[in-house]
Amino acid sequence: MITFIRVTNLLVTFSLFVSFLLFVQCSSPSQSEIPLTPAVSKTLVQPRDTIARNEPDTVTTVTTSLTKADAATMLARKQVPILCYHQLRNWRASDSKSAKTYIVEEENFREQIKMLADSGYQTILPDQLHDYLVYGRPLPEKPIMLTFDDTNLDHFTVAAPELEKYGFRGVFFIMTVSLGRPNYMQKTQVKALSDAGHIIGSHTWDHQNVKKYTPQDWVTQIGKPVKQLEQITGKPVLYFAYPFGLWNEQAVQGIKQRNFKAAFQLATARDATEPLYTIRRIIASGYDSPKELHASIERSF
Ligand SMILES: [Zn+2]
Repeated sequence: MITFIRVTNLLVTFSLFVSFLLFVQCSSPSQSEIPLTPAVSKTLVQPRDTIARNEPDTVTTVTTSLTKADAATMLARKQVPILCYHQLRNWRASDSKSAKTYIVEEENFREQIKMLADSGYQTILPDQLHDYLVYGRPLPEKPIMLTFDDTNLDHFTVAAPELEKYGFRGVFFIMTVSLGRPNYMQKTQVKALSDAGHIIGSHTWDHQNVKKYTPQDWVTQIGKPVKQLEQITGKPVLYFAYPFGLWNEQAVQGIKQRNFKAAFQLATARDATEPLYTIRRIIASGYDSPKELHASIERSF
């Protein structure tokens, strides 16, 4: 009886192995287009019974997830629209003409967000964008990313409830010097945004230009604020937005070395070798009607 079971087991294992060999042979033409990664080579030299248990899908997934795109491949992928908001409040007589670009009135903001939802846009978060650019992972049909810079209180009181209506999630880039100041968010509000599924990113300590950092500035502006945000949220801070959208090669390398997965600028061209650290965003202007914002999104990305 025991011998019979052993023989049966051997037969099952053998037939699974033969099936696998057939699969490899049949699918080899299409697989030849996918770069063979070390992990896949390792799979092929594993013991026979391990190979036999591998589903065809598993092999494909492993290949996709470990093939990192080079800069040219990332630059060739269609850009995801990313909007950058600052203040969300009604204009005051004292607001200058140029300041109004960065101040979207509350009702206009609501209409802009409604327009995005009505147009079929779905918000994505930085990890999704990263995996799309680096590994070619799929995104929703009409992806968009909504980002909010500078820690303004209205991000919590106006933006978050509005995003919630449509099941949207945003990215909030915090300058930590402002936490707890009048008209800025409290730490508890930043934590609440993070807990609700929004992403908290770093926007330095007090908004100094990254192009001019001394070694001490890297500690003050990046190291300590990141640690503070991680303590507040209980999560790693993996994304960065350059103050004023300003960057250069040195700034990019400094950010990259500090374990950020990606960094966001404004609308200038991406760096040819570091597209992941110079991701483009456009300002959602206070002057934009929902219709104008829609046109601006289609024109810019
Ligand atoms: Zn800023």
